[in-house]
Amino acid sequence: MSISLKSKYRTHTCGELNSANVGEAVVLSGWVHRKRDHGSLLFIDLRDNYGITQCVLDLADQGLLGAEKINPESVITVRGKVVARDPAAVNDKIPTGAIEIQVGKYEILTKSLPLPFQVFGDDETNEELRLKYRYLDLRREKMHHKILFRNRVIKAMRDKMWELGFSEFQTPILGASSPEGARDFIVPSRMHHGMVYALPQAPQQWKQLIQISGFDRYFQIAPCMRDEDLRADRMLEFYQLDFEMSFVGQRDVQDICEAITTFLIKEFAADGKLHPEIPQFTYAEAMLKYGIDRPDLRNPIIISDVSEIFRDSEFAIFANAVKGGATVRAIPAPATADKPRSWFDKTEAFAKEELGLGGLGYIVFAGEAKGPVAKKITPEQIEKIRIASGASVGDTVFFVCDKRDIAAKAAGKLRIKLGEDLGLIDPKEFRLCWVVDFPQFEEDENVPTGIAFGHNPFCRPLDDSDTLDLSKPLELKASQYDIVLNGWEIGGGSLRNYNPETMLKLFKIAGYGEEEVKAKFGGLYTAFQYGAPPHGGCAFGVERLVCLLLGEPNLREVTMFPTNQRGQDLMMGSPSVPTEQQLRDVHISIRKKN
Ligand code: ASP
Repeated sequence: MSISLKSKYRTHTCGELNSANVGEAVVLSGWVHRKRDHGSLLFIDLRDNYGITQCVLDLADQGLLGAEKINPESVITVRGKVVARDPAAVNDKIPTGAIEIQVGKYEILTKSLPLPFQVFGDDETNEELRLKYRYLDLRREKMHHKILFRNRVIKAMRDKMWELGFSEFQTPILGASSPEGARDFIVPSRMHHGMVYALPQAPQQWKQLIQISGFDRYFQIAPCMRDEDLRADRMLEFYQLDFEMSFVGQRDVQDICEAITTFLIKEFAADGKLHPEIPQFTYAEAMLKYGIDRPDLRNPIIISDVSEIFRDSEFAIFANAVKGGATVRAIPAPATADKPRSWFDKTEAFAKEELGLGGLGYIVFAGEAKGPVAKKITPEQIEKIRIASGASVGDTVFFVCDKRDIAAKAAGKLRIKLGEDLGLIDPKEFRLCWVVDFPQFEEDENVPTGIAFGHNPFCRPLDDSDTLDLSKPLELKASQYDIVLNGWEIGGGSLRNYNPETMLKLFKIAGYGEEEVKAKFGGLYTAFQYGAPPHGGCAFGVERLVCLLLGEPNLREVTMFPTNQRGQDLMMGSPSVPTEQQLRDVHISIRKKN
């Protein structure tokens, strides 16, 4: 131990003693991890944050009697002597495995009730129960490890940002709304009748104001709250490594993102294989080749557009659809030509049931081309398809035909499914890529103008000139960039618009009048009129990064106290019914449920 953890409860921790300590008198405190009763000898594995030490109690000793009744997870102190274990009983797997404590005295500090689930071992336990007794769950070896791992990742992130010249600032939690595409959590004000604060969806406007305040490079490991439907890769509350920089172009911000990500992967994924290249795709390209804006490049399948080959073909379903404006996407499935009929049926069933497609055409390239589509088209068309899709003999090419966006997304999902089914993904690999040039706006039937911001509204259009043409907003590209790791969007950011005139024009397209912009975003709008530096930044999802570094798919597993999938904390009892007085204080009455 470099810092002393000694106290009246312990001379050593439970992870510390080894052969060099044999003969010493020691005091240890911890939890009763596991008990084994061998008649007259009782073995207790004593556990603390640092490890496990085997303690032996001779029940013939009157002073030790009763120890066999201690419930697991009670907290005890033992006093005794370090002795070498019998060679046959040495456990190489733990640092204390060569010794044990011959206990002379023990004391129960606190008792545990019988446990709702076992802390010792890796038994699968229902997640709701684990969350209700999270403190027990967190004592379990795997969870304890994940949380300590997260702690080290956060420290490394922080150190790296300092090293890169960023200053760490905290921004308010009670603030004005700052939209990031989710609903706000609002906090009613007591002092201001009928008014609310919003919890930050992200510190976006604050970090821009920090740039306008002249601090140049800011970062923060920031809590973000978004009221949205929960999924495995989303939580109501999460942390971002959020940063912003002044006097930069897009590449400068991307360089920082790459430096952090590659550093963390090298540091924390020791046996991971980091691919040296970080390719960049435009949003349009990503949607064509991968059918998703966060492609997993470990999957080698690349989608291509074969609409034109089908346009004048005899395969009437596709030909007519293409003439009517649809597209046909080709998804090659490597080395599948000799798969049994049942595999093709299963793939087709997936397309129908999960992707909502009417069917799934395909050509099997097994020496000669086979399958329902091949019969209807010419050998030249077949060869064109083979070349366009990059297929070889032994492969199958599947087709998805629909309206462009639907076909793109369905092809993307089929690509993922095939990658998984065919075992094409190396779980040890780390593949990064960029997706850039997102649309500034997207169609949204829920807003009055039918047009909403694609990402957050502070992003600058890619064309930053005075002659910026806003006449076709849906064609406008944004200087938005997302960094993607193994199919997860781990970070996203943009260069910001810092021109108040352009700000008004962009907001107008999304249906906000000048007065509304001034009312809702007046702080930033006004600040832009007092000398704003060109600036941009990015934010990484901390939990997502930790998950990827650990190879853990579920964000809740790397979060100490997450809610369940319905946004409830069953351990602490939240959300909860407010008292009448609390409601009165903030001038609120509850509407009747419909
Ligand atoms: N505020 C953005 C987000 O939460 C990140 C950024 O643009 O820097 O996604």
